[in-house]
Amino acid sequence: MAMVPPLCSCLARWQHRPAVAGRYAIRDHWCGAGVCREVAVRVLVIGAGIGGLGAARALSRDGHEVAVFERAGHLRTAGGALTLWSNGTGILSELGVSLDGVGAPIEMLQVQRWDGRFLMSIDVARAASRFGHPHVLLPRRRLLERLADGLPLSMVTFGRACTGMAQDADRVRAEFDDGTTASGDLLIGADGHRSVVRDHLWGGDPTVPSGWATWQGLSAVPIDVTSSRRGLMVAGGAGMCGLMPAGEGLLQWWFDLRWPAGDRLPASPIADLRQRFGHWAAPVGEVLATAHEADVEFFAHYRHRVPRCWGTGRATVAGDAAHTMPPTRAQGANQALEDAWALAGALRATGDVSAALRRYERARSRRAALVARVAGSEDFNRYRPAMFGLTPDALVSRYNTRWLKQVSNYLAAMPA
Ligand SMILES: Cc1cc2nc3c(=O)[nH]c(=O)nc-3n(C[C@H](O)[C@H](O)[C@H](O)COP(=O)(O)OP(=O)(O)OC[C@H]3O[C@@H](n4cnc5c(N)ncnc54)[C@H](O)[C@@H]3O)c2cc1C
Repeated sequence: MAMVPPLCSCLARWQHRPAVAGRYAIRDHWCGAGVCREVAVRVLVIGAGIGGLGAARALSRDGHEVAVFERAGHLRTAGGALTLWSNGTGILSELGVSLDGVGAPIEMLQVQRWDGRFLMSIDVARAASRFGHPHVLLPRRRLLERLADGLPLSMVTFGRACTGMAQDADRVRAEFDDGTTASGDLLIGADGHRSVVRDHLWGGDPTVPSGWATWQGLSAVPIDVTSSRRGLMVAGGAGMCGLMPAGEGLLQWWFDLRWPAGDRLPASPIADLRQRFGHWAAPVGEVLATAHEADVEFFAHYRHRVPRCWGTGRATVAGDAAHTMPPTRAQGANQALEDAWALAGALRATGDVSAALRRYERARSRRAALVARVAGSEDFNRYRPAMFGLTPDALVSRYNTRWLKQVSNYLAAMPA
């Protein structure tokens, strides 16, 4: 059995014991450096995305034995860039995941009207300095690489798609498309917004289209935003264009637009975007002028009501599997990291697997439901220039700090 990296020398000597009657082994003892709590469960994680790798980092760090099963043949390399707010970067730093040398820090978000008129400026650096953790925009592949870095190679099995699960009082079993199974003390479905585990636990897929979609690209666009520390959002009746520096000379650009369910994809996405947004003021035209069909990816937005209870017995879900939301608040990945952090905390707090999972779900569901509800309303994408233009910048900057704390278990737990 592969052992996880030890927390202290005493843990290295400690042998995993099978769970007994729903409980897992837990022992406090003096290890020389202080009181050391040894716990170990065998954790099955389905999905090696941000939620799955985050959970693997958090749980293996606590001494649990983790096995991750990923459907794809390798770590995802596509998907543009992601904004990690102070909650995400704070959790990563606590998990020992360094972001040194990747991405770009974001200190300011500016909003302008489609015709170039300035509407509002949000000082997001205020929240970063209040919480002591930066906001960083980085390519998704870099985040996945950093999360995987330091995990034993044998911990993640690629090319294994989970098709179902079953559990009894003592064990939980994952079933895979190649006919194999794996069993453990608990199972975390971190298999994204089309989660097989969630469908099993919740009795079906609760997600519905929000009526919006994103076309996005990550490419070297020579405009000043690319080398800055600010994001620019451009709002208009046709939708929202977002531009953010992502480091490595790359610009993350996206267009959010209304997308009634069932609409067909255009034969040439770039031609379609140029037709919808091509008349917008600089720098939107420059972005569209340099974009190629190969740069652009399409994501329809989905949402659902996030329930209070996410699992039963020895199984639960995390990340998009628990709370699929449109990317408008740029919190989905941050919330997946919040789940990983909270899961580890819940397992630390009790020796009963089922109780720990319900504790985790209770801790997370209210905040995840809030952010999913707000993101799901697509409020930021709706064109309301008067509201953007009339709200004082200082008020929005304060709201941004408060909002981050409201949607984060990690930031809310920080000393005031
Ligand atoms: C256009 C866009 C922009 C975004 N921007 C941001 C942003 O700026 N900031 C932010 O915080 N969030 C953002 N998000 C949201 C973020 O991408 C997701 O919330 C995040 O990826 C969720 O992570 P996850 O691990 O739960 O799911 P995923 O990233 O979807 O990972 C799930 C993993 O499970 C695997 N899998 C699926 N099914 C199975 C199976 N049956 N068996 C085994 N493995 C399986 C998949 O291959 C995948 O590797 C954005 C999303 C989109 C679409």
